[in-house]
Amino acid sequence: MEANIGIQVIPEKCTGCRICELICSAGKHEEFNPKRSRVRIVKEERFFIDIPSICQHCLNPLCVKSCDSGAIEKTKDGYVAIDQEKCIACEECITACPFDAIFMDPVDNKAIVCDLCQGDPKCVQWCPTEALTLQKDNSTAGRKKRTSNVKEARRLIKRWKIPMEDWERYHPKNKTD
Ligand code: SF4
Repeated sequence: MEANIGIQVIPEKCTGCRICELICSAGKHEEFNPKRSRVRIVKEERFFIDIPSICQHCLNPLCVKSCDSGAIEKTKDGYVAIDQEKCIACEECITACPFDAIFMDPVDNKAIVCDLCQGDPKCVQWCPTEALTLQKDNSTAGRKKRTSNVKEARRLIKRWKIPMEDWERYHPKNKTD
């Protein structure tokens, strides 16, 4: 797999259908169970906004640094991988991830993260609105573009007293492309 490819998230395009969660859990665990998905949809009902949370495969991942068990690595192919055998379910990686994109598998009680499906992500294939796309731009600008949409949307969600006009940008009715 090409180094540092990743999934670009465009929150404005996400309808919150959650097909991505279902197809991810089906691919990884052969069951339709959003709680076992490596992508999760964060819903903000007040503003009709849905933001997919998925690993951004950071260049220097904080999750890797946070794991005292050595269970997480940034592979030579550029994606973040968790060794299930080494995971002790301490959840430090979940706390460390700035994108809230590492989850606990409620069945195996191990941390789980997107592994890009070996370069052909199921969520990207099945997303009906192209809110998730595979981006192969390996440049700094490409990586920044990949994360900026999510960072901005999540920043807004964390601020409760924000002007409505900020939210308007993310409302589906204002979608321009
Ligand atoms: S499949 Fe696409 S549109 Fe549906 S919830 Fe997931 S990211 Fe959003």
